Amino acid sequence: MHDILVIGGGPAGVTAALRASELGADVALVERGRLGGTCTNDGCVPTRFLAHAARLAREAEQFADYGLVAELPQLDFARLMNRTQNKIKEINDKKGLVEHLEEFGVKVFSGVGETRFVSPTACETAGGMTFEAEKFILCAGGYARRLTFPGSDLAQTHSDVWSLDKLPKSVAIVGGAATGCQLASVLAAFGSNVWLFEIAPHLLSMEDSLISETIGDTFSQRGIEVITGIGGVEKIEESDQGLILWYKLQDQVKQVTVDAVIMATGWPGNADSLNLEAAGVQNERGYVLVDEYLRSSASHIFAAGDITGRMMLVQSAGYEARIAAENAVLGAGQPFTHKIVPHGGFTDPEYGSVGLTEERAKVLEPDCVVAEVPYAALDRAIIDDRPEGYCKLIVSQETHRILGAHVIGEQALEIVQLVGAGMAADMWVEHLAELELAYPTYTAIIGLVARKIVHQLGVMPLSTQWRSLDKPYAAEWERSAS
Ligand SMILES: Cc1cc2nc3c(=O)[nH]c(=O)nc-3n(C[C@H](O)[C@H](O)[C@H](O)COP(=O)(O)OP(=O)(O)OC[C@H]3O[C@@H](n4cnc5c(N)ncnc54)[C@H](O)[C@@H]3O)c2cc1C
Repeated sequence: MHDILVIGGGPAGVTAALRASELGADVALVERGRLGGTCTNDGCVPTRFLAHAARLAREAEQFADYGLVAELPQLDFARLMNRTQNKIKEINDKKGLVEHLEEFGVKVFSGVGETRFVSPTACETAGGMTFEAEKFILCAGGYARRLTFPGSDLAQTHSDVWSLDKLPKSVAIVGGAATGCQLASVLAAFGSNVWLFEIAPHLLSMEDSLISETIGDTFSQRGIEVITGIGGVEKIEESDQGLILWYKLQDQVKQVTVDAVIMATGWPGNADSLNLEAAGVQNERGYVLVDEYLRSSASHIFAAGDITGRMMLVQSAGYEARIAAENAVLGAGQPFTHKIVPHGGFTDPEYGSVGLTEERAKVLEPDCVVAEVPYAALDRAIIDDRPEGYCKLIVSQETHRILGAHVIGEQALEIVQLVGAGMAADMWVEHLAELELAYPTYTAIIGLVARKIVHQLGVMPLSTQWRSLDKPYAAEWERSAS
């Protein structure tokens, strides 16, 4: 009988097992496949690798402008896919998860097939191993949802992309959230004709309007056929020309013929694989229902990561895992809350966000102050010839605290991390405005937008004789004349 059995060896499971062991518990971890989870093997790492390849191809288009004489690179897709798998292996080897877990006393059982509950305190693996534990931390993640309609089995998911042997000449991606947009961006950069379908009126509809509108416009300019507001996909049929995808748009049924259809239509939790009924754990749409202590409806069973359906990101999986492990080992005393979560996507252009969207902020604080600065104002963006992009900052009129930041353009994700740190430190916008941020950098845009808001808030030092804000925003070294 173990103190704790962790099910799932992705970021949540590994972190939970290490933290529980660090706190003195006897811990075992079971993983159906290889350690690393969606993050390393099937999600972030391959996606980011392809985004980097796409970026290199685009950088090469700038060679002549920078006095470099070279041919434009040709894509060897099979080699790229092979390199993607090598990179996944390199990351797995670098982490050495099995050795690391074992060094910390965790007993690791990977490649044992699915683990399912047979009673509230016992589990069995597909291979017939049994485990008993006093407490459990469920970290089984999620899976790519496949919509069901006639011919839907002809569609692929992001996981199938990593094993394609050649680049599809044309591809329809169904789903314009983070995964769909990232795939559309890289496949278009490699030369595929891409159609991107989304039911919502905008791509990335959960993001701030600055991001969702700019990404749609930029994708369209780059030749991606963005079709939003569809009424759903009707069917997929095989034909001599390829796959015909039938979709509804404004009460009409339309069609497009492509080489491949990829579904990126959601990420339900893996609860069904765990036979949770045997343990009395309630779940909904594949997600384990948890309370504020990440405790399920069975008080000795906790959950963390994507399977809770809360904030499906690696950093959040790690955060939930640490709290779930502490609550499981020390007693449920620590509540979790996802307050400040910088996140984004490796599309081209990249986007990053933290805090409230403008729409949400205006509901909570109608007189909040919002400012935007274009990348064209940044000297660095001009030096690199990357002037496309914007940074938006949202600040409370009342407290001068930062409510949210949204960036689209070069290094957007790196930029929002700074704002996230400022928010966590409870900085006022005045403090952000006065940071001496390095020049010439993209992050310096935070100083520009923060100073713009300081002007808008009217907190400039003014003497009685010279009381004027007639020429706002004059005192900036970085600016754009247009
Ligand atoms: C294409 C894509 C790109 C992404 N990019 C990013 C990104 O850039 N940044 C970011 O923060 N997030 C990204 N994500 C999300 C991120 O991958 C997840 O949030 C993260 O992996 C969640 O960690 P987890 O440990 O909860 O689940 P997972 O990483 O999914 O791990 C769950 C593990 O449990 C195992 N398992 C499942 N059922 C069982 C069972 N019954 N028995 C035993 N083992 C089981 C699985 O095999 C898996 O290894 C991306 C996701 C996708 C799909």
